[in-house]
Amino acid sequence: MSRTLLLELAKSPCLRRWITSNGAARRLAQRFVPGEDLALAIEAARRCNRAGMTVSLDHLGENVLNREDAECARMAYTGVLDRIAVSHLDANVSLKLTHLGLDLGDEFCMEQLRIVTQRAAALQNFVRVDMEGSAYTERTLGIVRQARTETDAVGAVIQAYLYRSEQDIRNLLSIGCRIRLVKGAYKEPSQIAFPRKRDVDANYFKLMRLLLPSGVYHALATHDPNMIDAAIRFAAERGIAKDKFEFQMLYGIRTDLQRRLVRDGYRVRVYIPFGRDWFPYLMRRLAERPANLFFFAKNLFRGTTEQE
Ligand SMILES: Cc1cc2nc3c(=O)[nH]c(=O)nc-3n(C[C@H](O)[C@H](O)[C@H](O)COP(=O)(O)OP(=O)(O)OC[C@H]3O[C@@H](n4cnc5c(N)ncnc54)[C@H](O)[C@@H]3O)c2cc1C
Repeated sequence: MSRTLLLELAKSPCLRRWITSNGAARRLAQRFVPGEDLALAIEAARRCNRAGMTVSLDHLGENVLNREDAECARMAYTGVLDRIAVSHLDANVSLKLTHLGLDLGDEFCMEQLRIVTQRAAALQNFVRVDMEGSAYTERTLGIVRQARTETDAVGAVIQAYLYRSEQDIRNLLSIGCRIRLVKGAYKEPSQIAFPRKRDVDANYFKLMRLLLPSGVYHALATHDPNMIDAAIRFAAERGIAKDKFEFQMLYGIRTDLQRRLVRDGYRVRVYIPFGRDWFPYLMRRLAERPANLFFFAKNLFRGTTEQE
């Protein structure tokens, strides 16, 4: 089954209902999402901190359709920031603007984000604004730029698969904005995004070389050992110290590599999603790697929770 089909199925309410109400599917999803409750995410975060890694907590949710849901999401995020502080965790938060009501208008969404970033700033913490599908790229970057005029406690995500990304990085660097570089997880047309993986990888290399010497603390979010090795080599050649940037990986993916990087003295942050709205996140993880899909499908029909 192709990546495109899986990303389309991620929008199906029927499949969502079936998967999320299926006990075996819920247990299998725990490989990528430690649980629906904040308490489980906090436990996972504590384990990561003990293993020498920092964390970004993502309260799952996207494309909310009314103000009440967006305000609930915003309150959940300020609650997560408070909880991080009282739990003395080394963690920040990641959020999606469509969870904070971007579909209801930029101004409304900006008001919600402002409340979250103000709380983060007061707690000396940080909010990473995830990047969603290309329909939202321009507005997301506009809102992050606006938020950056008020606080440094907010950063952006740039997707290497988009042709526009080099220019977006140059614009964000001109205002000193922290950037997380990813390859990109959505289905995009060839008019705006590199269709071939090798071109996405080449662009990731190129953008990484723009980011690392910029003097701003950026994040390279990838599980790709080639990208990671290239970044390590590049940083060493340029004399960029190991504490001037961080690698980021998703919870449950390449934990061996996460640990190896920590052992080698690099900074690693684990992205930990939690919450009830885990279906689209799970579908994106299945779409990224066919082996995940086969493992999931095989065990779903067997009804087991055997580990890969
Ligand atoms: C911390 C973090 C935050 C992210 N935030 C965003 C965001 O805001 N917006 C966005 O569009 N995308 C985001 N992504 C997803 C990203 O765009 C990619 O889709 C994802 O990281 C897979 O690409 P890769 O760089 O790991 O390389 P790939 O070339 O896809 O994979 C390299 C290797 O990594 C391993 N791997 C990759 N994905 C998986 C998986 N799902 N399961 C198991 N193994 C896997 C495999 O060993 C694979 O061979 C984020 C990723 C990370 C790590």
